[in-house]
Amino acid sequence: MDFAPSPSQARSTSEGITVRCWGTRGSIPSPGPKTVEHGGNTTCLEVCGPDLRIVFDAGSGIRPFGTDLVERGPNAVHIFLTHFHWDHIQGFPFFAPLYDPEDSIKVIGPKQKDIDVQNLFAGQMGPIYFPVPFSFVAAHMEFEHLNEGGYEVGDFELEVMRVRHPSFVIGYKIKIGGHVICFIPDNELEGDVYNELEPNFRKRLVDFCGDADLLLHDSMYTEEEYPHRAGWGHSTFEQTMRLGQDAGVKKLLFTHHDPMRTDYELSAIVAKMREDAARSGSGMIIEAAKEGVDYTMDGDA
Ligand SMILES: [Zn+2]
Ligand SMILES: [Zn+2]
Repeated sequence: MDFAPSPSQARSTSEGITVRCWGTRGSIPSPGPKTVEHGGNTTCLEVCGPDLRIVFDAGSGIRPFGTDLVERGPNAVHIFLTHFHWDHIQGFPFFAPLYDPEDSIKVIGPKQKDIDVQNLFAGQMGPIYFPVPFSFVAAHMEFEHLNEGGYEVGDFELEVMRVRHPSFVIGYKIKIGGHVICFIPDNELEGDVYNELEPNFRKRLVDFCGDADLLLHDSMYTEEEYPHRAGWGHSTFEQTMRLGQDAGVKKLLFTHHDPMRTDYELSAIVAKMREDAARSGSGMIIEAAKEGVDYTMDGDA
């Protein structure tokens, strides 16, 4: 099997574009009665076009995504990674298509200095960390580096930009069916820790997200929490909202929720952010990303 778009993968037969968060949580899976509504799985985002499903990051949310895929298999899957922190790769060993010889999986992500993507992925399946070695993987595997520039697969056009987060971390701009979706789950918008990414980081990021139909961005902290976590590589709800407004984003989804953040707290924060936005005359739609919810767009813009 090659990596040509496979119509059998499409989850729906409609011409629409569907975005689904299979994991919205940062840092560590956080299941329990206080996170039911927004979900406890770590980062994983699916974008489903008319002919192809592609997925971003392999947090624990990629496990149920894999289950859904195998029910429709065989599959040729593209997994795009923002970086290799644990909450973005920990679901990979449990991704069911790995163990099916009929399936093909291509993993695309940013090389970390001289360590390539294959070694970064296979490393977490070493015997000290995981019982099943990478050599047991039955699927046809390919790995590719993407640190800057663009990438095309099927009808999807992707662009990446390095963002402010420990190690080499990228955000994605996804163009499909006349729509623009930006996915930046880990990024510290303000502060002065990551000076190597200047100059003009802010302006470049605003341009990158410009006029996006949908922006999913790191919103891990409140303004009260942030001073104690400055330099950890994450943003606040207010900072994310300012980015969305500056970039003219139509719909903003707060994501990479702190593992301690309850559904009740997220609802209260969203209500306050909407009030603030309305006061400033912004028409941007604001929500906190929810696991398992489909965000749909028409096939043609
Ligand atoms: Zn993360
Ligand atoms: Zn991270």
